[in-house]
Parts: sequence; C-alpha cells; structure tokens
Amino acid sequence: MARQYKFRRNRLFIPLWFLWSVLLFLSSSLYAEILSLPHAKLDGHFIQGGLVIGKTSPGNQVFFNNKAVRVSPEGIFLIGFHRDEPLQFSLKITSPEHTERLDTSLNIKKRQYKIQRINGLPPSKVSPVNPELRARIKKEQQLARQARTRDDERSDFMAPFIWPTIGPISGVYGSQRILNGKPKWPHYGVDIAAPTGTEVRAPAGGVVTLAHPDMFYSGGTLIVDHGHGLSSAFLHLSKLRVKTGDKVKQGDVIAEVGATGRATGAHLDWRMNLFNRRIDPQLLVPPMAEVLASTPEHSRTQNTQDK
Ligand SMILES: [Zn+2]
Repeated sequence: MARQYKFRRNRLFIPLWFLWSVLLFLSSSLYAEILSLPHAKLDGHFIQGGLVIGKTSPGNQVFFNNKAVRVSPEGIFLIGFHRDEPLQFSLKITSPEHTERLDTSLNIKKRQYKIQRINGLPPSKVSPVNPELRARIKKEQQLARQARTRDDERSDFMAPFIWPTIGPISGVYGSQRILNGKPKWPHYGVDIAAPTGTEVRAPAGGVVTLAHPDMFYSGGTLIVDHGHGLSSAFLHLSKLRVKTGDKVKQGDVIAEVGATGRATGAHLDWRMNLFNRRIDPQLLVPPMAEVLASTPEHSRTQNTQDK
C-alpha cells in the first residue's frame, strides 16, 4: 500500500517541473523566429529541418552557401536546412548595381533525433539483394529526385500550410533505425495515422510533378511542387485523385490514405523537400494536438467516393 502511494505521488509530482522544461525547450526550438538584417528579413525556423522565407528588395540577388537562390519579382526567397545541415551557413545579398551588399554567416540549432537499434535481423531483411528489385528501387528513386528538381516562379508556399490529413502523429521527422548495426535511411516524413480511404488534401497550392500508383518502398506516391523548389510528397496512398501536371489549390482532395508499399499499417507519410534538402513539414503547420481538439471526429475520416 505504502509503495503504491509513493509511486502515485511521484507521478503527480514529476510532470510539474518536467512540463516546464519541455515547454521551455519547445518554445526555444519549434517556434518561428524573425531576423532583421541589412537588405533582408528572414522568417522561419533556424534549426535542422527548418524552412526560412526571406524578403529582400526586388531585383537583389541572394546566395545561400554561395549558391544563387531564386528571388521572386517581389523579393521573396526560400532557404532551408537538411536533417544534418552544418550549424553555420553563409548568406550573401547583392543589389543589381552591386552597391549594397550583405555578406554574413548565421547559425542554426542542432536537433536531437530518435534512434532505434534493432539487432539480430536476417541479413536479407536489412538490404534487398535481388538485382531486379534493386534496379526497380533505383529507377523509382530517380523519378522522385527528378520531380524535385523543378524550380518554378510560383510562390504557393506563402499561404500558411494546413495538415493534409488529421489524425494522431505516429512517426516524426529525422528518426533513424539502425538495423544489425547498419544505419538505414532516416525517416524524413511526419506520419499521420488514419484509416485507408481518408482524404488527403493539398497542404498548399501547387503542381503535381509525380503521380505513381505503386513504388516499391512508398506505394502510391504523389509529389506536389509549391514553387521555388519546395515540394510535398505523400506516401503509401491507396488512391491517387490527381495526375502529373495537374494544378491543385490548398485544400483540394488529391489522394486517399493507404498502406501501400512497405508500410505496416494505414497512415499518411508527408514529406517536404527544398530541392534535395529534407524539410520537416511539422514545423510549418499548427500543432496536431490543437487541430485534433478542434476537429469533430466525423469530419476527420471522411471516405468520400468519386463524384
Ligand atoms: Zn513514414
């Protein structure tokens, strides 16, 4: 009896200070920051996996790590940070007459990722050895890579993003599995658990650059380009409702959730890229807990049939 009492008291006691430290950590890392520099204003997440929207005077040129980035006629540009991006980057801005110039280095925060080690698996489960299968996987990876090279002037990313599907988060960006001591590809998406057939909506407007019904790893796969090289990918879909080249608006139904490809259950895996840099989609949308709390159960799992 006494032991049980002590256990219960601890359970109530620990969360008070623990929650505070969690909240402090979250507020320091997950909320967007605004940085005002000479010739530019930057707004976004200065953290690995983060995306930053910049604004400079129209006509200026912007260089991120010495590479020119697209600047819209309004002076909008994007920079983003990979999962393991170095913690310092350079930003250069020049005016058309080269009279004004910004040349600075800035820092991003390091992130901690979940690591899961699994040992004792049969080697064939860790890496596929079948040459035909390997060729298929390679070809599919090239298709996805190709779809992400698009660099359009559209700036659909300016509208605040919405969740493509609503449901409990079952996987997060950056986590890594180490199978038999071999590090596998990190998980770059956010997983949303939802039943097969649940509608997937465009989180922002864009153009469909890939609509593949059955890829080996990702099953039914869609890629939507939001402009300036920023794209969303949706994996394991049971049904695609759009095709390559289609233009979509934010909130349009583009697909249905499934468990196709190598998935253990029905969920939506939503990934974002800025060209080849993997961006964490979860940083661009409101916390799922808040969305779940304000969305009635019946409107989450609508399984509408084709009109
Ligand atoms: Zn996933």
